[in-house]
Amino acid sequence: MNNIRVGFGYDVHVFAVNRDLWLGGIKIDHIVGLLGHSDADVLIHALCDALLGAANLRDIGFHFPDTAGEYKNIDSKILLKDTMLLLRQKGYEFGNADCTVCAEAPKLNPHIPAIQECLAGVLGVDVDCISIKATTSEKMGFVGRKEGMAAYATVLIYKA
Ligand SMILES: [Zn+2]
Repeated sequence: MNNIRVGFGYDVHVFAVNRDLWLGGIKIDHIVGLLGHSDADVLIHALCDALLGAANLRDIGFHFPDTAGEYKNIDSKILLKDTMLLLRQKGYEFGNADCTVCAEAPKLNPHIPAIQECLAGVLGVDVDCISIKATTSEKMGFVGRKEGMAAYATVLIYKA
């Protein structure tokens, strides 16, 4: 069974003013954005961690440290592309991903088709391989208080 593997990723970023909101590789119009060393794309970061975990390649901070100047405000699509390259170098191919974004605002459902298309393009896979789900936190906790967003991702990869 070593030719099929699963991975799980989780990430969280805090909202901040004067920041663009990048999610799943697209820019979403909103009053606040997410704060981070990179563009703080919480969904892509969770997806990268899931992919790296599936291939037993440590985590996103190990490969792209937030102390490195080269990653300051970097487009997370580059990190995702580089992550998939690491997996392909180890002989793995992308199977599918199932992701959940937790946010009280903005409404994400209208943006899901564009996110799926964007991520599929970066990964070089079919749009049908990328599932994105959006939920709130029922006004509880840091997500509920609109302090930030969280994202979870599960992926399946296989030995090509
Ligand atoms: Zn992150």
